[in-house]
Amino acid sequence: MPTAFCPNCDEEITLQAPRLGQVVICPSCGTELEVVSVKPLELDFLFEEEEEWEEEWGEEEEEEEEW
Ligand SMILES: [Zn+2]
Repeated sequence: MPTAFCPNCDEEITLQAPRLGQVVICPSCGTELEVVSVKPLELDFLFEEEEEWEEEWGEEEEEEEEW
């Protein structure tokens, strides 16, 4: 069975049918992890903060002149 290690607490996590992009919660520390590679199985931190990236693209209409 494929196993990977939690990047946060190094706990061994076993996944029966891992899929790329699958979200896994570490049973030891509760950290949300994402399957970033299936072969070999690798887990990485799940990032949900997409709003941070939107800021970089949303600087177009910043200065509106109201005359
Ligand atoms: Zn963990």
